[in-house]
Amino acid sequence: MKTLDVLVSGASIAGPAAALLLTRQGHRVTVVERAPALRSGGQTVDLRGAGRTVVDRMGLTAATDARLLDQRGIAVVDAHGRRRSALPVEAFDGNGIVSAHEILRGDLAETIVAAVPDSVEYVWNDTVTAIDHDVDRAVVSFETSADRAFDLVIGADGLNSAVRRAAFGPDEHHLAPIGLRYAWFTATIDQDLDGWYLMHNAVGGRVVSCRPSRVDGTVKASLAVRGSDAAPLTAPEDQWRMLEEAFDGVGWVAPQLLAQMRHATDWAYADLAQVRMTSFARDRVALVGDAGHCPTPLTGLGTTLALVGAYVLAGEISRADDVAAALASYEHVMRPFVARAQQLPPGGASGYAPSSRIAVELSRFTYWSMNKWPMRRLLASQFAKADGIDLPDYRITAG
Ligand SMILES: Cc1cc2nc3c(=O)[nH]c(=O)nc-3n(C[C@H](O)[C@H](O)[C@H](O)COP(=O)(O)OP(=O)(O)OC[C@H]3O[C@@H](n4cnc5c(N)ncnc54)[C@H](O)[C@@H]3O)c2cc1C
Repeated sequence: MKTLDVLVSGASIAGPAAALLLTRQGHRVTVVERAPALRSGGQTVDLRGAGRTVVDRMGLTAATDARLLDQRGIAVVDAHGRRRSALPVEAFDGNGIVSAHEILRGDLAETIVAAVPDSVEYVWNDTVTAIDHDVDRAVVSFETSADRAFDLVIGADGLNSAVRRAAFGPDEHHLAPIGLRYAWFTATIDQDLDGWYLMHNAVGGRVVSCRPSRVDGTVKASLAVRGSDAAPLTAPEDQWRMLEEAFDGVGWVAPQLLAQMRHATDWAYADLAQVRMTSFARDRVALVGDAGHCPTPLTGLGTTLALVGAYVLAGEISRADDVAAALASYEHVMRPFVARAQQLPPGGASGYAPSSRIAVELSRFTYWSMNKWPMRRLLASQFAKADGIDLPDYRITAG
């Protein structure tokens, strides 16, 4: 295939991975990111199964292994911070809710971006506003930059992808909300996590969690609450106000987190939804990662899908004679993996964030029972999905 001019929208996991693998084939890549710089936020994500294989084929295993965060497991605490049940990392041989290969999302993004050659042009603080596309090219309009023509546009801009809206239509055609509002940020709390991912469920479907961070004295916090019939909240002020109201009266470290969230420099928020597309590509536009097939964090497979999607898209481009053939093969290889990965774990949002007092009590029992039959079998099959693709070896990996 001739050298392609490619636009990648989004610089998190899927975008930089695609940029890296495409420049290794000699294609010219521009990355546009709405944020003013690489975003550092997020808790740990796991690198296992096919995601780890992709990292290996990108030549980044040593770099990511150097930044893995040892964690001891997940434990449920009550409103006073007393531990009620725990699932150590060894329970599923290092492949459970907390895996043996956990890395901070920001560290993973930074590691991939560091490997992307300098020839890649980054446009920060901008976004795609429209795409005029046909089978031969895509002419892209931006909020700030001048219009530009590309051979291929890759939407790697997450759950609320601007590329998806521009090329495939409005969000309501593609988003299946799961009824959970979710925020992540770095905070300090007056409790030592001692390597544990601690989680507190409060009635009303409210979840407070803190996971270890690499910086001493800080934790990677999250606040999640059920119910999102209303429109997604896009302005941070609305998100903060909603969380202040929702978490009023919740115990454990909730008051400490509420007091800090407005000052967090790595604030991230999502009204969780799955992205369901009948096709991951159209003309000269392709979607990878959450933009095309977000499974939600409840599956634990979003980062795996993002890495695998970038690898398969770049790999099929390396094999095909033209873009249309590459995009058709990308769809064909990814579709079954996406379908399995999007199956939510038992209970879905209500399993993660139970509402009633009795359901909260039961959820403690659930964590206790996870390592026992029949839950163990159910969960093991959920975790095994990270391996659910026979990855073609495209041989585009040499750095
Ligand atoms: C800051 C942050 C923190 C996160 N924390 C967690 C976490 O703790 N746990 C978890 O399971 N998942 C988390 N996620 C989501 C997780 O990264 C993804 O589910 C998964 O890794 C797939 O990655 P992705 O690259 O497809 O999408 P994302 O990671 O969502 O990245 C999308 C990128 O596109 C950018 N973007 C968005 N809109 C536009 C636009 N219009 N134009 C240009 N760029 C745009 C975003 O700023 C972001 O950099 C987080 C995402 C972000 C951005």
